[in-house]
Amino acid sequence: MQGILRKKLRQGNRSAPSFEEHTQHQCDAMNATAGKLEDYDCPKCRNKGVIYFVGEGGEIKCRECACMAIRASMARIRNSGLQNLLDIYTFSRFQTDTPLQKLMKSTAEQYLDDSDGSWFFVGGQSGAGKSHICTAVAGELLKRGEAVRYMLWKDESTKRKAAINDEDEYDRLISPLKAVQVLYIDDLFKPVYDDRGVRRQPSPGDISLAFEIINSRYIAGPSGVTIISSEWTMDELQRIDPATAGRIFQKAQDYCISITPGKGRNYRLRRQKP
Ligand SMILES: [Zn+2]
Repeated sequence: MQGILRKKLRQGNRSAPSFEEHTQHQCDAMNATAGKLEDYDCPKCRNKGVIYFVGEGGEIKCRECACMAIRASMARIRNSGLQNLLDIYTFSRFQTDTPLQKLMKSTAEQYLDDSDGSWFFVGGQSGAGKSHICTAVAGELLKRGEAVRYMLWKDESTKRKAAINDEDEYDRLISPLKAVQVLYIDDLFKPVYDDRGVRRQPSPGDISLAFEIINSRYIAGPSGVTIISSEWTMDELQRIDPATAGRIFQKAQDYCISITPGKGRNYRLRRQKP
């Protein structure tokens, strides 16, 4: 008899849900609703980015879903401008056939292991994998959760120099380069060659733009990490503009590689002040 009563009571409970059950249903329904977040399909939150639960006082609360970290990382890669390069220019694909390439790779690895706010510079002879190693470093920093921005010097400097007379537009273009956590400048002062194949010096506009960006990041301290590849060695940059070169060198120090042309691809790793 008691058993039947209990059964009836249970049935009674089912037909008239308690406040707690009602809240839980509501919560389940909210969790079952699909959200609108794109890029990544998350089965846990159904692309809402949050997961609802019934808190201690019986209120429905929500917490951020773990997929938000994945989405943030994907957005960082997208915003970095490096999306198409990251899969190609990885550490594992970097060829280390020559002592120079071995040195480049080991310096980059050491940089990632123990650099604390240092900068990374590779300058000099083209074709040595400068962009490759710098992209691999930038990719690793992205994976670690840092916001990285890619700046292809020639393209982006042209845009900024064109906006020099429009103060608002110029600021809009240049501030992200100053503020981003990690800036990767690819091919700083990309040289133009004259008819005789002689490299032209960078223009005063280029020199002043580089100083503005580099100086701002230099002042920013650990939050101004900058990765630079250039066809100019540190010595050559020093002759172009000692103020810019000095700041780069001071920040990069042991992670400053200058590749000098010569027999059998002569190279050296500069550690002393230029
Ligand atoms: Zn999720």
